Amino acid sequence: MPIKPHRKRISLATRAVRAASALYGDERSIAPPIFLSTTFERDPEGEYSGGFIYSREDNPNRRQLEHALTDLEDGADAAAFASGSAAAMTLFQALRPGDHVVVAEDSYYSIRVMLDEVFVPWGLSVTYADCADLNAVEAALAPETRLVFIETPSNPLLRITDITGVAALAHAAGAIVACDNTLPTPVLQQPLAHGADLVVHATTKYLAGNHDVMGGALVTARADDFWKRVRAQQKLCGAIPSPFASWLTLRGITSLVQRVRWQNESALALAEFLATHPAVREVLHPGLPTHPGHALAAQQSSGSGGLFSFRVNGDADDTLRVAARLRLFRRATSFGGPDSLVEHRASVEGTASKTPGDLLRLAAGLEDAGDLIADLQQALDAG
Ligand SMILES: *Cc1c(COP(=O)(O)O)cnc(C)c1O
Repeated sequence: MPIKPHRKRISLATRAVRAASALYGDERSIAPPIFLSTTFERDPEGEYSGGFIYSREDNPNRRQLEHALTDLEDGADAAAFASGSAAAMTLFQALRPGDHVVVAEDSYYSIRVMLDEVFVPWGLSVTYADCADLNAVEAALAPETRLVFIETPSNPLLRITDITGVAALAHAAGAIVACDNTLPTPVLQQPLAHGADLVVHATTKYLAGNHDVMGGALVTARADDFWKRVRAQQKLCGAIPSPFASWLTLRGITSLVQRVRWQNESALALAEFLATHPAVREVLHPGLPTHPGHALAAQQSSGSGGLFSFRVNGDADDTLRVAARLRLFRRATSFGGPDSLVEHRASVEGTASKTPGDLLRLAAGLEDAGDLIADLQQALDAG
């Protein structure tokens, strides 16, 4: 599929700010109001001329967030959810029992558990494939395949999947492609422009950007029949964000471009430092020329974001000790906020984890990169 020309006239940073300026209400406030009302009044004639009926179906704050998400990903429409997991759930629910999905084998851990524990019993059949290898994707496709679910770069192994290549194979087989774009965000990668049909987000991470609100999103390239099913699931099953969560996420979006660029640069500087340290076995960052996906990543994105991983020269206990010695990186799961975080993924993922025990995942926050490097240096030197 050819790459779509950039048809927007104004840049992403400008669109991100404008998306959050008040759309509803005539009080002319600069920051949008929060519409807590669950219900909206009918006209005497029976119409809903305000455009809203009941907040499970639609709400001004959610609609404004969905509008912003559509704009940022250059899609046809977007649906916002209570979490990234709820967005993925709704995507799978819009399929039908008997459908087959191909899922990247190193895609986000709890989405794989959701498939195994909820959607396989519900009737989906799932094949996990190494989506970084197009031959493996092709081999996994079956006549019943409706969806290929990829994540690039993947979390926490930072493997790179060829979006255009997967889309060509999937489309030839009659399937659609959903790409989890949580890590790079639309600032660094726009999967719809590379042939993906849907984008999945955990807005909990970079889009909201402050470690204080959960959320998820699906953005579609086309408002087609499948999308109508997604919308119906959202309305009927109600996995929606609250007005306040929508408002907080939208507020985060206003500074998305600046935060992601900063965190992307910091993470690369940290990765370059770690690659030179003798206590480090390997750095998993697509920005490094040694990374197997480096060239492909440079072709389809302008960075991987603030998240990457590295492997310590030692066993799981040595690795946990490195994490314990860090002072600026706080030991917590998640990423995308102002605080830099470190996580031993193998401990947090369950028995189905594919993450090595010597791996630490780092999320660069908004601190100074020099300070973060000094912190890593003292933690590794002390080993
Ligand atoms: C966090 C995350 C999710 C799940 O999102 P939640 O908001 O935690 O439910 C999905 N995909 C990726 C890549 C994530 O990082």
